[in-house]
Amino acid sequence: MQYILGLDLGTTGNRAILFDAEGAIAGQAYKELTQYYPQPGYLEHDPEEIWQDTYTCIQQVFKQTGISASAIAAIGLSVQRETCLLWDKTTGKPLHKAIVWQDRRTASMCRQLQAKGQAKIIQARTGLIVDAYFSATKFAWLLDWVRNQNINLDNILAGTIDTWILWKLTGGKVHATDRSNASRTMLMNLAEGKWDSQLLDLFQIPDRIMPQIQPSLGIFGETDPQLFGTPIPIAAVFGDQQAALFAHGCDRPGMVKCTYGTGCFLIAHTGEELTRSHHQLLSTVAWTQVLANGKTVTSYALEAAMFTTGACIQWLRDGLKLIDSAAETEYLARQVTDNNGVYFVPALSGLGAPRWDMGARGAFMGITGGVQREHMVRAVLEAIAYQVKEAIEAMNRDSSKAIEVLKVDGGACQNDFLMQFQADALGIPIERPVVLEATAQGAAFGAGLAIGYWTDYQKLCRSRKIDRIFEPGTGAIQAQENFDTWLKAVHRAQHWVD
Ligand code: ADP
Repeated sequence: MQYILGLDLGTTGNRAILFDAEGAIAGQAYKELTQYYPQPGYLEHDPEEIWQDTYTCIQQVFKQTGISASAIAAIGLSVQRETCLLWDKTTGKPLHKAIVWQDRRTASMCRQLQAKGQAKIIQARTGLIVDAYFSATKFAWLLDWVRNQNINLDNILAGTIDTWILWKLTGGKVHATDRSNASRTMLMNLAEGKWDSQLLDLFQIPDRIMPQIQPSLGIFGETDPQLFGTPIPIAAVFGDQQAALFAHGCDRPGMVKCTYGTGCFLIAHTGEELTRSHHQLLSTVAWTQVLANGKTVTSYALEAAMFTTGACIQWLRDGLKLIDSAAETEYLARQVTDNNGVYFVPALSGLGAPRWDMGARGAFMGITGGVQREHMVRAVLEAIAYQVKEAIEAMNRDSSKAIEVLKVDGGACQNDFLMQFQADALGIPIERPVVLEATAQGAAFGAGLAIGYWTDYQKLCRSRKIDRIFEPGTGAIQAQENFDTWLKAVHRAQHWVD
C-alpha cells in the first residue's frame, strides 16, 4: 500500500497529513509555530523552526502510523504565501527571520510607490494591489538590511516558504517555486508567468537570487535520502489558498471557496483567461499544470484576502488572555443572546480586500458598562463573518452571477456558531466538508495526480464528504441589519496610523 504525504505549512502552524489511495486521512501531525512581534505592525517567523517542525511532523506521522518513507509515493507541499526570507546557500542559514505576510513594516515604501504613480503599472503587471502584504517590498527591505550589514550578496538565495522548504528537503539541490506562490510576490508578470525584470529592477532585487518558477503540478525534485532513509519525489507545490481551491474541486469559472485560517481567503476560479477585478480584488494564478499532450496550462482566480480573522482569535487567547482555547469562543458566544451593541474591527494588520487600508487598526466599538467578556468574544466572531460578507459583496459585483452557496474550510470553520452566523449574515447556505484540512488535501491531490497515483481529479474531489450545511436561520434578519453598524465601526478604524 502506498500513500501521499500532504504538507500544510501555515501561519499558525505546520502540519503533515498522510492520505491513502481512497483520499482518506491515514495519519497526521501538527506543531504550532512561534509568532514574533518585534515592534507594532511587525510579524516574523523563524525559518529554522518552520523547517525543524516540518521535519518533526513528517517523522511523527511515520512513527504514529508505522508507515515508512518507502511507502510514500510523493509529497505535495502547500505553504503560507508571501512570507519570505533570504539565506546563505553555503551555510544554509537564514540571514534574518522571515517577514510574514501580515507584517506592515514596508507600508511607507508602498505609499511612496503609490505617490509616484507606480501602483497602476504594478497592478497591470502582477494583478495585485500595491500593499505591504506581498513579498516584493519585504525582499527589498531584507536586501537593504543585508547591504547595511556588509554581507556579501554572492551567496544569497531568496524565496518564499515553499522555496525554503523545497531547498531544505532536497538537501540544497533545488531552488524553485511554483507559479501560484510566485504570483503572490508582486514580482511575477501574471500574463507571462515569469519574473518581471522591470519590477526586479524597481525593487533592486538581483535576478540570480530568485528561484526558478515551475508548474504547480509536476516533479520538483526528491528529498535528500539522508532525511528519511529513502528519496521521496516532491510532485506538487501550491500556495495554501490555491491548494484549498484545488481540493474543493473549484476548477471552473464561478466556483468559489472561503478558507477560515489565520486570515480569511475568498477565491473564485476564473478559468484560463486572466480576469481583472473592478472592485478591489486580486487577480492571481490558481495553478499551472502540464497536460498529457505537453501543453502547459495556467488557470487564474480572483481573490479577496482578509488578513486577520483567526489571528484575532489567537490574540484573544495569547494577547488578551480572555480565552483558554480557540474552541472556547463558540461556547462563550452562545452564553449571550446578542453582541450587546459591541462591534469589533479585525484590522490587527490593516485591512485587505476590498478596502486595502494599511493604516487601519483593530478596534472594539460600542462598549458600555454592561458589556461582558462573552459579548467581546461574540463581537470578534461576528466581525469575521461580516468581513467575509463585505468581500462576497465585492465579488458578486465583479461577476454576472451572485454566489449561491459558500464552500468553506480551515481551522476556524470548526466553530458552529461562526458558521451559522455566517449563513445568517450572508443569507446563503454554507457547506462544510468533513475534512477541514483542504490545504494539505489539495497539495496531496496535486502530487498524487502529477505522478499518476490518482488519475481522476473529479472523482477525488467527489470523495470529499460534506459534514454539514448551515442554512440561514432565524437570526438572519438581525445579522444583516447589524452589518451596517459594523461597517460604521470599520469606517472609524480606518487610516488610524496614516
Ligand atoms: P493557518 O493555515 O492560517 O495556519 P488554520 O486553518 O490551521 O490556519 O486555522 C488556525 C486558525 O483557526 C487559528 O487562528 C485559530 O485561532 C482558528 N481556530 C481554530 N479553531 C477555532 C474555533 N473552534 N473557533 C474559532 N477559531 C478557531
